[in-house]
Amino acid sequence: MADREVRRQGRPMSLRLYDSLTRRLRTLEPVESGRVGMYTCGPTVYDRAHIGNFRAFTWEDLLRRYLRFKGYEVEQVMNLTDVDDRTIAAAAARGIPLGEVTGPVIEMFLEDWRTLGLEEPEHRPRATGHVDGMIRLIESLSARGLTYESDGSVYFAISRFPGYGRLAGIDPQGLTSASRATGDEEYDKDDPRDFVLWKGGDRGGDEKAVAVWDSPWGTGRPGWHLECSAMAMQYLGETLDIHAGGVDNLFPHHTNEIAQSEGATGKTFARLWLHAEHLLVEGRKMSKSLGNCFTIPELVARGNAPSAIRYLLLSGHYRTQLNFTFDGLEASEKAVTRLHEFRRRLSGAIEAGIDESADSSGLAERSRAAFGSAMDDDLNVSEALAAVFGLVREVNHLLDTSRPRAPGGAETVLAAIADFDRVFGVLALRDLESADADEELVAWATARVGARERARADRDYALADAVRAELEARGVAVEDLADRTRLRLGARTIVVPRPGL
Ligand code: AMP
Ligand code: ZN
Repeated sequence: MADREVRRQGRPMSLRLYDSLTRRLRTLEPVESGRVGMYTCGPTVYDRAHIGNFRAFTWEDLLRRYLRFKGYEVEQVMNLTDVDDRTIAAAAARGIPLGEVTGPVIEMFLEDWRTLGLEEPEHRPRATGHVDGMIRLIESLSARGLTYESDGSVYFAISRFPGYGRLAGIDPQGLTSASRATGDEEYDKDDPRDFVLWKGGDRGGDEKAVAVWDSPWGTGRPGWHLECSAMAMQYLGETLDIHAGGVDNLFPHHTNEIAQSEGATGKTFARLWLHAEHLLVEGRKMSKSLGNCFTIPELVARGNAPSAIRYLLLSGHYRTQLNFTFDGLEASEKAVTRLHEFRRRLSGAIEAGIDESADSSGLAERSRAAFGSAMDDDLNVSEALAAVFGLVREVNHLLDTSRPRAPGGAETVLAAIADFDRVFGVLALRDLESADADEELVAWATARVGARERARADRDYALADAVRAELEARGVAVEDLADRTRLRLGARTIVVPRPGL
């Protein structure tokens, strides 16, 4: 629907999103019609990302997918913060170079990314590969008189940038205590509110981590905020359509990104600033001391399907806190299974040539319209899901009542479900999981047939019967033919040759 609408009118229907800077819903109007340039702050790769981080990333994936669903071409940049205070502290503590800490963490991050079925952004720049651009950005800021140097470090003078702090709604005058929280206090600043662009001087930890670069101000390394400004503008130009991250990024990170970027270019840095609320675990803030900073593999090891984890991370509105609970995970598992079963039922009806759901074409169109208007309204996922499950309920009812009708309806419903899943991406994951499960079952069943053959060769018929019972308990039917054993697993038939024949 939305796609067709785009083609018909030659432009997408309007998507309204809540802009943190102006504090109101605004219509997405990209600089270049039909194309969205989006920067999403990536992980700081000092340790494996937790499910809180993945709430932000999964929501950004939803946004990206919905933009594409509406017919926009998306160019997304998600950086990897592979040099900052935390990564350097981790490397210095272990006495190893920075890359030996960040390399394996990046691998884990990408593995979790794929597990959750997140789409690959167009660019994944690493901060350490973009230091030249960061230095050039400091030079532009210096040329405009917005910086000062002190003891080998370079600072941004916020008193010289009018409007500083507007994003976070803070008055620069009251900033002294807030800036303490940024961890910059050890530096020699003219004004405690200022933030660092280039960290130079004598820095033992940095030397140990081999995290120093040459610059016009001597050796040192870039400040974290500077990294994102430089990489965003390098890939997307001076004005981005969307800049997104979690709420903790409002201040100081995004506040400082605006000061650096707009200070250097004199242009609007991002047309829309989007922020996702945090994730809580069983009603509590995530923290290492509470032991509730779960990672994706930890949840999978507890028997949770990635599709259910993805569903749970997506199922709340991004501007409200999401309470992650194990009960919620179970409910998500049921929701994904319900959708999966529904789709299977429709395919079955089509294959059998009994399509009793002609009335459902109208239902599918209505559901598509409701889905689109919910998502256009600041990504209202709950309403969009209500539209999807409303369709499931009504079509199931039609199929239950079994009144013969002309074919066609089930195909329309299947197409709608496939389109919804281009945005949610949970059925695609569930399909992969089922295929994996099938393979695992086939491998196990084949191995058990081997064990049964050995038992029969040893004339241990009790054991052979026990193995057959074991197979049947997992839904595998066993049939002995003259020279082979035939297994039936649902719709699949596997033939295992008898040894020695
Ligand atoms: P970091 O690796 O700390 O730079 O964070 C990466 C992303 O995860 C940022 O967009 C953060 O805002 C986001 N984030 C961190 N903690 C949480 C949380 N508990 N819930 C949701 N998002 C979070
Ligand atoms: Zn950032």
